[in-house]
Amino acid sequence: MKRTATDLWNDIFENGVQSVVERITDEQSLAMAEEFGAHNYAPIPVNIVRGDGVHVWDGAGNEYIDCVGAYSAVAHGHLNPRVVGAIVEQLKKLALTSRAYYTSEAALLVKGLAQYAEMDMVCPMNTGAEAVETCIKLARKWAYTKKGVEHNKAEVIVCENNFHGRTTTIVGFSSEAQYRVGFGPFTPGFRMVPFGDIAALTSAITPNTAAIMFEPIQAEGGIIVPPEGYLADVRKLCDQNNVLLVLDEVQTGFCRTGRKFAWMYEDAKPDLMAVGKPLGGGLLPVSAAIGSREVMEVFKPGDHGSTFGGSPLAAVAALAAMAEMEVGDYAGRSAALGARLKQAIIDIQSPKVIEVRGKGLLVGMEVSPDVDGKKLTKAFIANGVLTKETRSHTFRFAPPLIVSEDVIAQIVERTRKALDAVC
Ligand code: PMP
Repeated sequence: MKRTATDLWNDIFENGVQSVVERITDEQSLAMAEEFGAHNYAPIPVNIVRGDGVHVWDGAGNEYIDCVGAYSAVAHGHLNPRVVGAIVEQLKKLALTSRAYYTSEAALLVKGLAQYAEMDMVCPMNTGAEAVETCIKLARKWAYTKKGVEHNKAEVIVCENNFHGRTTTIVGFSSEAQYRVGFGPFTPGFRMVPFGDIAALTSAITPNTAAIMFEPIQAEGGIIVPPEGYLADVRKLCDQNNVLLVLDEVQTGFCRTGRKFAWMYEDAKPDLMAVGKPLGGGLLPVSAAIGSREVMEVFKPGDHGSTFGGSPLAAVAALAAMAEMEVGDYAGRSAALGARLKQAIIDIQSPKVIEVRGKGLLVGMEVSPDVDGKKLTKAFIANGVLTKETRSHTFRFAPPLIVSEDVIAQIVERTRKALDAVC
């Protein structure tokens, strides 16, 4: 049967998806997304058609330095050739089996990731939120089966201003009104304390406390670094009270803060850790809960799962991504270039900048409340830098970790110009 030429499916079928995509203008893309896509994001009004390393381009050919880096997921730069190569090779063999079978790729992933993270066992998932949910389930089951907490009474202590993802359980323990209002009722079993306050944490512990869970640096909450010694103090507190330390390193992990994981700054090794984002090399969603054998062994067949988690395709992407980070000393690069970037933004001495904070290449520039955030975003766009506000007027600089010294200098120069434009 002959299909009509105006039919979208016929067009894609006959000419290929790329042919159809390339005929869409930037304006059409924005209009289509607004009409047919749920409005759960307010994107920077730029239509990205191509990426390479630290750069992306819009349909008009304008070049930008990507300082959002897919919320820290694009550590390897756009289309890292070795990770792309690993995926392409795997696509000639096998992509998806689910966990109904064993695969050598998944086996190597769990071994490699355990080694990389210096921990015992791994449960592969896809998204950061899933990794966090996995940690919560593990912590609760550990509390019931190993600590002896009465059934359905386990508590997890979390921190104010947290960001752990968007599932109904996770938004239920957010302190951000917009994340919660309209989405209840929520999962019970969480207590909230101020971030970085060891005394508050100490007094929130009860015999039912299964775990303390937080981000070593609050990223989406405005790049908030806790007081020095906090991680080590929490580790000690957990040991003293038979409570699990669960760290969400979905954003801080894999060299973003200048160490492989942010807990390594204080040797505060967690019992459980959620990782994701750059684990997929900026190409595929790959996440995991990683932990000690004592905790991970509470999962029995059927307790938890994911159809795509640990697929051969995801596994090779993650393995190639970790090899790049190790051999390419991403941690060292991030520490050195991040320190330089932070100091150079401070040295701009703009009257509009209140504070510059962060570790490694996770840098936040907080501007005064009278600055029009949207106007500053536009000034950044006009100067060829894509950055996005986290909460409270803090602009993030989280470029791919492969960024060069020259590009760091460009980011600083363009930031100076953008700030001048709104002053
Ligand atoms: N935890 C942290 C610390 C995050 O920054 C994010 C994402 N910004 C998540 C969890 C959720 O990850 P995902 O969007 O992949 O579910």
